[in-house]
Amino acid sequence: MTKWGMVIDLDKCTGCQACTTACAMENNTLPGENWQDVLYYSEGTYPTAKLTWLPRPCMQCENPSCVAVCPTKATYKDMDAGGIVFVDWNKCIGCKYCMIACPYGVRFYADEKPVVEPDIRDVFPGEGQLHAPPYQGPESDSVRGIGIQPKGVVSKCTFCYHKVSKAPEGVADLDEDNPDTKEYTPACVRTCPPKARYFGDLDNPESEVNRLIADQRGVRLKDHTGNRPQVYYLGSGADVPAYQSPKKT
Ligand code: SF4
Ligand code: SF4
Repeated sequence: MTKWGMVIDLDKCTGCQACTTACAMENNTLPGENWQDVLYYSEGTYPTAKLTWLPRPCMQCENPSCVAVCPTKATYKDMDAGGIVFVDWNKCIGCKYCMIACPYGVRFYADEKPVVEPDIRDVFPGEGQLHAPPYQGPESDSVRGIGIQPKGVVSKCTFCYHKVSKAPEGVADLDEDNPDTKEYTPACVRTCPPKARYFGDLDNPESEVNRLIADQRGVRLKDHTGNRPQVYYLGSGADVPAYQSPKKT
């Protein structure tokens, strides 16, 4: 069974935020509602201080704490959809338990005070939905939290399931350089200028994502939480706090 996973090489990532912008365009998110974000932080003190960054989508955890706490079962992990974690907007009551339970801070409640003015929700008011931008992605699936959300629900990254789900069956990797798969590749992966992101089937031994994780000792963030992300990081800076994958035999 397919298990979709993402690999992010921190040695290649330039922190340009193209992924963040592509995600916002693809998924019609509001300003500040960054399903895919790049977190910037400084390390050390002068004169050896340095600015660094961490690209951060939803980890689509194998053991997601957001699912465990949801009282209405609106948040669920769909094994038939490659193990992606979705929010059913028809069931979500906006209690935000999941936002507190997620150790990665990747969930959003977009009804809150806007982070920029003017409030886009007032500029493009939506009837029955949070807002109605002039351009709207053609896909909508409220059971999977895809499309423009209604009021009072939580949202998050879906690994661009509306694209990924149309990929040819049994494909090992979704790569923008492959004409057969580029249309199905998640927007952040397809857009990344330095090609720091990879996307493929963690259950397929032939996949590039598996090879990278094994060869370059991919790590999962905050693995001590037991969430077991389906997103792996490579490169310097990906070591703490993390889990190291077993060495390839
Ligand atoms: S990263 Fe957070 S929101 Fe995503 S599956 Fe894991 S616990 Fe849930
Ligand atoms: S906010 Fe919605 S998805 Fe999150 S725990 Fe509450 S009901 Fe479930």
